[in-house]
Amino acid sequence: MNLDFKSLPKAETHVHLEGCFDVSTIVELARENSLQLPRPETDLLKFSGLAEFLDFLDFICGLSRTKDQLAKAAYAFSKRLKDSGIGYADLIVNPTHWKLWRNDLASFIDGLDAGFRAAEQEGMPPVGLCISLLRQQTGEEALELVDMLTQFRHPRVVALSIDGNEMTAGRTGPRFADAFRRAGLAGFKKTVHAGESSGPEGIRDAIFLLEADRIDHGVRAVEDSDLIKVLRDRQVPLGICPTSNIVLGLYKSLEEHPIDTLRKAGVPVSVNTDDPALLQIGLVDEFERCATTFGWDKATCCAVAETSIRASFANQDVKTQLLGDLQGWMSEGFARV
Ligand SMILES: [Zn+2]
Repeated sequence: MNLDFKSLPKAETHVHLEGCFDVSTIVELARENSLQLPRPETDLLKFSGLAEFLDFLDFICGLSRTKDQLAKAAYAFSKRLKDSGIGYADLIVNPTHWKLWRNDLASFIDGLDAGFRAAEQEGMPPVGLCISLLRQQTGEEALELVDMLTQFRHPRVVALSIDGNEMTAGRTGPRFADAFRRAGLAGFKKTVHAGESSGPEGIRDAIFLLEADRIDHGVRAVEDSDLIKVLRDRQVPLGICPTSNIVLGLYKSLEEHPIDTLRKAGVPVSVNTDDPALLQIGLVDEFERCATTFGWDKATCCAVAETSIRASFANQDVKTQLLGDLQGWMSEGFARV
């Protein structure tokens, strides 16, 4: 089946700004700042696992030193969305990686916002920011971040997020419950990385302790049939990133990836890229690969795209527009390529 996945109206709900710098930009910024690359350029994107991958994110984020550089990064992200036919994105940004900015988060968000605004004025898709905690942070640091976001109240910020390696951090759900509760009361949405470097227990904590509106990854729910029922009954959406899971060694191949098992069990799933530049992938290819591997027909592709839109933290106008576009694509957008 030759569906045109670029024109498929869709949102992306699980993508990190830290993972959107391509090699040429990294090399250029490192040179500008007289910094040595951690590995030769040809091996720059080869990682032994999640820990090395997260270290590299810290390095990349140290390369943006001015508000203009932040705005450029934001603009480049919006351009990337447009090029993939993505109508809206919730973009995860973790201030702990941006060491030069973590004590001046207001300027950091302002810098990014300037880039998104410039892009939107040129007709590029809207973007919401999900400001992320790292699993290794303390409960006090989490509360400080939520209080700061509440006080600052920037319209660009739509959600509190948490990411990082749960394998090394251990169980941290209880530590962050207060911060997530407070964020919810302040009107922020909540999105939680779980069920990647943690098993089903991490997903349970995300649902029952952090009251997540959405789970980033969540794929290891497949190991627990009771948990699958919880996700299905509560309709908790999973922002799934198939290639990311394969590259980081969670599954050997797409054939072994549980996205379709979860979908068939009634769990709302969407397709996402996680770190597209670092993984050298795009959302159009991800959709194509899933459709081919799992034999998704047009209606199934539309259902997955619909989940991405409904699960996003876009405002109602944006959602209504995208859902209307999707209906049009379903009925007539059958472009042969
Ligand atoms: Zn992620």
